Amino acid sequence: GQCANVCPVDSITERYEYPDVRAAVQDKDKVVIVSTSPSVRAALGEEFGMADGSFVQGKMVALLRKLGADYVLDTNFAADLTIVEEASELIERVTKGTAPLPQFTSCCPAWIKYAEIYHPEILPHISTAKSPIGMQGPTIKTYFAKKMGIDPAKIVNVALTPCVAKKFEIRREEMKAAADYLQAEGMRDMDFVITTRELARWGREEGIDFASLEDSDFDKFMGEASGAAVIFGNTGGVMEAALRTAYEYITGETAPDVLFQLEPVRGYDGIREAELKVGNLDVRVAIVYGTANAEKLLADIRNGTKQYHFVEVMTCPGGCIGGGGQPKDLDKDRDEVRKSRIASLYAQDAAMSLRKSHENPDIKAIYEEFYGKPLSELAEKMLHTSYEDRSSIINRKNTPAAQAGTQEK
Ligand code: SF4
Repeated sequence: GQCANVCPVDSITERYEYPDVRAAVQDKDKVVIVSTSPSVRAALGEEFGMADGSFVQGKMVALLRKLGADYVLDTNFAADLTIVEEASELIERVTKGTAPLPQFTSCCPAWIKYAEIYHPEILPHISTAKSPIGMQGPTIKTYFAKKMGIDPAKIVNVALTPCVAKKFEIRREEMKAAADYLQAEGMRDMDFVITTRELARWGREEGIDFASLEDSDFDKFMGEASGAAVIFGNTGGVMEAALRTAYEYITGETAPDVLFQLEPVRGYDGIREAELKVGNLDVRVAIVYGTANAEKLLADIRNGTKQYHFVEVMTCPGGCIGGGGQPKDLDKDRDEVRKSRIASLYAQDAAMSLRKSHENPDIKAIYEEFYGKPLSELAEKMLHTSYEDRSSIINRKNTPAAQAGTQEK
């Protein structure tokens, strides 16, 4: 794909995986479980002629069921899990100095690989929390499989994402926590990644009339999510979601209204920052998208002109809503399309009554029944990861430190 030409870290090979998923749904011995990322539901409709940013969650779920998925779960569930783990980690760093500040977010695999190659010195700053997809995979093959009485060996885990870099992420060596837990050698946490465009293509090949599909709901247990998880797809969304939870964890008080529409972190500028009183602490945060902006911010942090507690980095313009696997109509103004998708996700968050990750009843249940508490030994094993200095690649491949992103082209 075109992403392979522009990706600064060569992490992108846009290989279509939906034929593999189609083969899995036709195999009666397999249980195909699809988990959907937040940004897909704000863009999939565009592939079928609907208005930019149409919110099509119900039809997306219906389409997956029609194509033969046995279960449709929401990666937003794991986004809530990510927030609980990542906010807990931030608090440990701030209050106990367990690791250096600022903490950087970890859910964008293109950013992770970029840091591993070009900035290995900041790896201790990057949250060890896996991305939502990285948490969803092993949790399905252990907790969900047990709860539903499914043989984990039969599960084919599919992530539906806006992102081509996730195809690399799920194949990282360490993404086999379920295999370690179940002692099932060769098992992968997540088996396939298909993008928004791939799903649309598959649906069209099957002759499905998307617009006339009746809305369907996610399956139980790992299908419920908060508004905080919905906004993960937007630049600034992870930060806002994390602050809602961190605020309540630190102060023991209800998060103030401002955290439900945190204007300085919203918007479309490539670098944004905010300061917020959390108890006695003035928490300073920054949000960037694109590796060029990340470079600027890193330089400011290095030379001491800027100091932050928490920094969100996404590679694509506008965040995952602008991911490389999203619909791309070249006749349209890309920025306007992305802004429509951003507005779509914020509107959905605002319309929900559950807007804080740690208050999601399914999240409370999973800690009670399985993980114990955030950062527990099991949570560390299954939901956290480590990073690798890959800077030697630069010399080997003589790759220039290109400043390009992985965005839709
Ligand atoms: Fe993938 Fe882009 Fe989102 Fe990063 S910002 S996770 S590369 S879609």
